[in-house]
Amino acid sequence: LHFDFSYIFSSTVCKNQSTCLPLDPDLNKIMAESRDYDELLFAWQGWRNASGRELRSSYKRYVELANLAAKSNGHTDNGAFWRSLYETPTFEEDLEALWKDLEPLYINIHAYVRRALYKKYGAERINLKGPIPAHLLGNMWAQTWSSIMDLVIPYPDATQVDATPAMIAQGWDPKRMFEESDRFFTSIGLLPMPPEFWDKSMLEKPKDGREVVCHASAWDFYNRKDFRIKQCTVVTMDDLITVHHEMGHVQYFLQYKDQPISFRDGANPGFHEAIGDVLALSVSTPKHLQSIGLLDKVEDNKESTINFLMSIALDKIAFLPFGYLMDQWRWKVFDGRISSSEYNKEWWNMRMKYQGLCPPVPRTEEDFDPGAKFHIPANVPYVRYFVSFVIQFQFHKALCEAAGQPAPLHNCDIYQSKEAGKLLGDVMKMGFSKPWPEAMTLITGQAKMSVQPLMEYFQPLIEWLEEENKKNGDVLGWPEYDWTPYKSKLGVHESTLKRWFTAQFPVFY
Ligand SMILES: [Zn+2]
Repeated sequence: LHFDFSYIFSSTVCKNQSTCLPLDPDLNKIMAESRDYDELLFAWQGWRNASGRELRSSYKRYVELANLAAKSNGHTDNGAFWRSLYETPTFEEDLEALWKDLEPLYINIHAYVRRALYKKYGAERINLKGPIPAHLLGNMWAQTWSSIMDLVIPYPDATQVDATPAMIAQGWDPKRMFEESDRFFTSIGLLPMPPEFWDKSMLEKPKDGREVVCHASAWDFYNRKDFRIKQCTVVTMDDLITVHHEMGHVQYFLQYKDQPISFRDGANPGFHEAIGDVLALSVSTPKHLQSIGLLDKVEDNKESTINFLMSIALDKIAFLPFGYLMDQWRWKVFDGRISSSEYNKEWWNMRMKYQGLCPPVPRTEEDFDPGAKFHIPANVPYVRYFVSFVIQFQFHKALCEAAGQPAPLHNCDIYQSKEAGKLLGDVMKMGFSKPWPEAMTLITGQAKMSVQPLMEYFQPLIEWLEEENKKNGDVLGWPEYDWTPYKSKLGVHESTLKRWFTAQFPVFY
């Protein structure tokens, strides 16, 4: 079962006859750096026309075939097959309960960011009681918002933690970023990358013009010695975090390489995604950045702490509803609760319900916006990232305790702690040979997923946000929405869009 969707990953959006922009890096850069409403819309809409729209009919056929394969293997549908990897009968209910615990925090960040965007883009474009237009959050899918930190920074005069300028000033290159990550892993007693890794990985976009799929990924060749990363690394703090993420996958490959092949996998898919992120939580602390020469001053005061936690929350909290809804949508597509005539409508229902986002221009069933996100055509399940974003804080807390680091949790840096490294290494060595609750127990001393460590990590920010939103008189959330006017060919009705925006949408009909 293999479709060649690769062409969509190399789709481009043309500004004029001579200039066409690929997603990585050009469109991503516009989404992150432009503060021009119309330019952002150009990139957002252009990418969806060039990618998602093109593969709508192939996706429908793919769903049929994926289900056929899953049924042949004894599952009721492909979504049930994906969920079976967690071996948890109550998986869906457990996730919903976690989301309900996290939702109030998300809604507070949403309201705070919405007000900042209102200040930037004005009342004609941002409704202070409505959803946020999906193209203004610094990312093509509005999945992480750290690129708009400049618009939302709580205390502009206190310490800011963007290490990008220092990395550039010091002449860092992609290789250096991977070496720095390798140094962190080995400092806690984990394994160094083998020579094959350094020889055969693709750590930056080829300069010879060859087309590659830039989406970062880590590869296990299952011969116990060949492990690689493919990443079009750019010298930014963001990519330094991604480097640690991918290195976490390779570390897992290395740790379980002597297991039988069937067990060479994560305890569950969320574990595999969490390892590198756990280390990155330490690397991101101002204290650690200073120790590797990327920050010159570190202040220990309330303002700096709030700035720091906001920068992390724009990644880790903003992501949660997106990480949850990607597979909510696909599970329903696979089991037939979403029919192929309503793919896009139901996608936007979920974008609205969970993320509080609306499309900036009308959408129709000619569009296929889920297809504009890599993991959907690439057939990569996604709820693993939601699971990871919850459990990585559980792991972080457990490792910090093992390292004897004092509270608060957001200051903890496990660098050089062999005790922390041992705990993580022992869990990785188990691979997929035991049910994941046993691996969870080995690290945290209990068997369940829990949002408590995440909430503890963000506690100062949670209190600050609640107070700030109250001070601004903000109404949290967004009203119930009504898709009845949505007609498959006509798209979102004008009156619906009018209700989302304070004023009638100006030019885009
Ligand atoms: Zn990953």
